[in-house]
Amino acid sequence: MAESAATPAALGILADDPAYNATLSARIDDTDTLARVWIKPDGATTPFEPGQYVTIGVKVGEKFVQRPYSIASSARALNDGYELYLRLVRGGAFTPLAFALPVGHRLRVLAPKGKFTMEPADTRVQLYVSSGTGIAPFVSMARTLADDGAPRRAIYLNGVSYVSDIGYRDLIEGWERSGAYPATYVPTISRPNDPLNAGWTGRTGRVESIIKLALRDLNISATEAIAYLCGNPEMIVAAERELAEYGLPAEAIHKELYWPAGKQPTGAAEV
Ligand SMILES: Cc1cc2nc3c(=O)[nH]c(=O)nc-3n(C[C@H](O)[C@H](O)[C@H](O)COP(=O)(O)OP(=O)(O)OC[C@H]3O[C@@H](n4cnc5c(N)ncnc54)[C@H](O)[C@@H]3O)c2cc1C
Repeated sequence: MAESAATPAALGILADDPAYNATLSARIDDTDTLARVWIKPDGATTPFEPGQYVTIGVKVGEKFVQRPYSIASSARALNDGYELYLRLVRGGAFTPLAFALPVGHRLRVLAPKGKFTMEPADTRVQLYVSSGTGIAPFVSMARTLADDGAPRRAIYLNGVSYVSDIGYRDLIEGWERSGAYPATYVPTISRPNDPLNAGWTGRTGRVESIIKLALRDLNISATEAIAYLCGNPEMIVAAERELAEYGLPAEAIHKELYWPAGKQPTGAAEV
């Protein structure tokens, strides 16, 4: 994560607490506001199903400030703890604290939870539709299937504002190039006219607006796909409508909303 100007102590984060049971063991800054972090529990890492999340938190004064995050690592690779993919929400209650934590800082992690898991026996094409960091559970799903030796055709549709925000690009485009995993990555940029996106020649517009086009281009019929939607709630509502129009039955559409529809961060502007 980008080094925040504020130290944990200046933000009131306790360096230690009896309830802390894990360590921030590594972090990689993709941008100033996007980071991959590794949370290593003190004991054995609790097994999880791909698609599940863990809740991480730090103590500030008398209270824990904590939030849930989808696990991005393979469910078969527990030795490094949980890999998570975080977006800094300016004015948010937790992420400014998380982004101030140095590697080695202690924190609390709760056991993995969640029902947004893969259908284990389903052999349809996996259509992974996400906005921003909502791609994280889909990285876990494919990594796990790869580790199980049971890869499934995966289409990643990921909507972001800027080219630099395209998550897990090296990994998924690497799979595409090498053929190591049968994935196709279709990122889309919602602000094509922004100078920061100059030179972008890929898809533009919000992710829901490219679903039908991408499915047609890739020759995938409604009966051939199972869709997983994750991230921004407004995107999920719109994407569900697009998929239903394309002909996917409700049973083939699974959803994980990262926050309730219509809710904004409590503080300053959202990033
Ligand atoms: C099951 C589940 C899994 C989640 N997994 C992830 C994850 O893998 N990565 C991740 O970054 N977040 C994830 N979230 C969201 C995360 O839990 C927090 O809501 C988020 O980090 C903001 O926390 P905050 O305290 O800083 O903001 P708060 O003070 O709680 O403000 C919340 C507001 O921030 C905005 N917001 C929340 N999440 C995001 C986001 N990711 N991108 C842009 N704006 C956002 C929304 O407007 C929301 O109403 C997940 C949420 C759920 C319910």
